[in-house]
Amino acid sequence: MPSVWDLPDFDAHEGVHFFSDTRSGLRAIIAIHSTHLGPAAGGTRFWHYADTNDAVTDALRLSRGMSFKNAMAGLPVGGGKGVILADRARTKTPEMLAAFGRAIDSLGGRYITAEDVGMGEADLVAIGRETRHVSGLPVGEGHAGGDPGPSTAMGVFLGVKAAIKRAFDKDSAMGVHVAIQGVGSVGGGLARLLAGEGARLTLADVDRARADKLAGELDAAVVDAADILSIEADVLSPCALGAILTAESIAKLDAPVVAGGANNQLATPEDGDRLHARGILYAPDYVINAGGIINVTLEYLGQGDRAEVEARLRQIPGRLETIWTESGATGETAARVADRMAMKLIGRG
Ligand code: NAD
Repeated sequence: MPSVWDLPDFDAHEGVHFFSDTRSGLRAIIAIHSTHLGPAAGGTRFWHYADTNDAVTDALRLSRGMSFKNAMAGLPVGGGKGVILADRARTKTPEMLAAFGRAIDSLGGRYITAEDVGMGEADLVAIGRETRHVSGLPVGEGHAGGDPGPSTAMGVFLGVKAAIKRAFDKDSAMGVHVAIQGVGSVGGGLARLLAGEGARLTLADVDRARADKLAGELDAAVVDAADILSIEADVLSPCALGAILTAESIAKLDAPVVAGGANNQLATPEDGDRLHARGILYAPDYVINAGGIINVTLEYLGQGDRAEVEARLRQIPGRLETIWTESGATGETAARVADRMAMKLIGRG
């Protein structure tokens, strides 16, 4: 394996910190991509990696993504990410979370954590006993913060509507066919919001029972998880895993719009070019899915209530419009326009 500095995803990270705690068995990475705009903010992922090098790559990719996401969302924070290397059974202990809290604290506020895959509110509460550099803690009614999922879903909903306006010149999702991959926190919330506006939905989840249950509630159709990326629809909304847009899947897409909440949807930068070449309108993932980090960052900064979070969510469609307009004018892909804007904002343009 090349040294960490030579990895393709290193991209001039300010710091990559490796932690271990023999007593609890914690092994963790905190990657800090940029603190140009403020302390590096981004959630912690608790995941079993087949190879530890995959964990490093994941931390680097996610951390850089957070720099871009936070900058484009207009937040006064930089980008970072935590990764806890779980065992195969994903054993999580209070001692491990406490050790991770101390690891965060040792960085003196350069990194602020939040939820990500495999981590819930109770885990953040446990981490919060060791450090104050944590967000996504339970909050009272009307306050910013808490579970980021509903805010992410709302931001994605507004972004999908902006895409519908641009692609089909419609002000509402009424009658528009949206295919949603993954109906967890974000995809499930999005499905409810779209159903509320009369959209026609097709859902898929590897947890078939989960998709069936929601479909029953919303009068939606369900297809196998293996088929959702290629069904005919007006909008495809990836809300499950990353790296699902590849040369192979893009060739089979049968939707003129891709707009969803999953992180790192493009497997490679060239996949953004492939979408563009096919004339597919793409909503850059870190722009459309910023709702959750907006919610928890305002909580951490103590700078706003729920109304402020919602006002900032309403800015997501305008940002997407700016990107699409520039892409239309220059011929550059939406993904590359967004990356260029983000790089400039973090002082690397
Ligand atoms: P979640 O775990 O609540 O839901 C994910 C769902 O996707 C699950 O129901 C899972 O069974 C399903 N799934 C997994 N693989 C699948 C596949 N191949 N096909 C179909 N379904 C599949 O997670 P979430 O919080 O809803 O996050 C979804 C995505 O959005 C992730 O990429 C996450 O990184 C991203 N994201 C989430 C937030 C947030 O606030 N929760 C914020 C920004 C980005």
